Amino acid sequence: MELRDVWFSYGRRTALEGVSLEVPAGSFAALIGPNGAGKSTLLRLLLGILKPNKGTVSLFDQPPGKHGEPIGYVPQGIRLPKGFPLSVEDVVLMGRYGTLGPIKRPSREDRVRVNQSLDQVRMAHLARRRFEDLSGGQQQRVLIARALVSDPCLLILDEPTSGLDPAARARFYGQVCDLQRAKGLTLFCASHDVEDVAQHAQQLILLDQTVRASGPPQEVLRSQAVREVYHFPPPHDHQEADPHLETAPPPEADKGGTAP
Ligand code: ADP
Repeated sequence: MELRDVWFSYGRRTALEGVSLEVPAGSFAALIGPNGAGKSTLLRLLLGILKPNKGTVSLFDQPPGKHGEPIGYVPQGIRLPKGFPLSVEDVVLMGRYGTLGPIKRPSREDRVRVNQSLDQVRMAHLARRRFEDLSGGQQQRVLIARALVSDPCLLILDEPTSGLDPAARARFYGQVCDLQRAKGLTLFCASHDVEDVAQHAQQLILLDQTVRASGPPQEVLRSQAVREVYHFPPPHDHQEADPHLETAPPPEADKGGTAP
């Protein structure tokens, strides 16, 4: 996956400026950055929903949408229509059809694939449960199964753990990472959970309209760019941080501190 000098604006508002990055196949890259940094815009460009004003986006050496391999997408969550109780199995089936609803009758192969996907995220035992009765963490695993059911090489996750408690977040990333290794998937995950993704990803990309830092997580976390973007050292880095920075008051110590 590669972006070369990508620019994108919503009207006059520039969201991305000269973004270049490369993610090797089979690796786990995490995209971090404050609110408004352009993370969702970058994901929309990868999914082919938006087109760059300038520059190129390529997935497996092709523009988005042109390659033969399906891309798995895991959103922050899904809203199901009211009064239409879908089972876990139904939600995963949506990944086979790309549509929602009882219109199509699933084939035996569809059922087998759904079961395999649920098995991969250790949710097969809850296949008949109502999706909306599951916990947030379980729902996210089902959404991963839904993305896996088309057998993608690349899985794009958009802040998949928003709303999960810290323990569930850590578990979630551990499981996703096991899956990535087992299936040789390329993972590209936009996340606010800097510490969690830093533990699992091979590459951390710090975005703030442009790529401010990129590389092995520990190097990126120690970079000056992280301090500038977040206005404070990330929590787990305190011991190694510059003492001046440690004692400096953290006025915008919440993650969304630099949001426009
Ligand atoms: P992030 O996902 O990192 O929070 P976004 O990609 O959502 O960042 O937003 C980047 C910038 O683009 C922000 O300034 C945001 O206000 C603006 N933006 C995002 N979506 C739209 C849109 N549909 N129309 C206009 N501006 C937008």
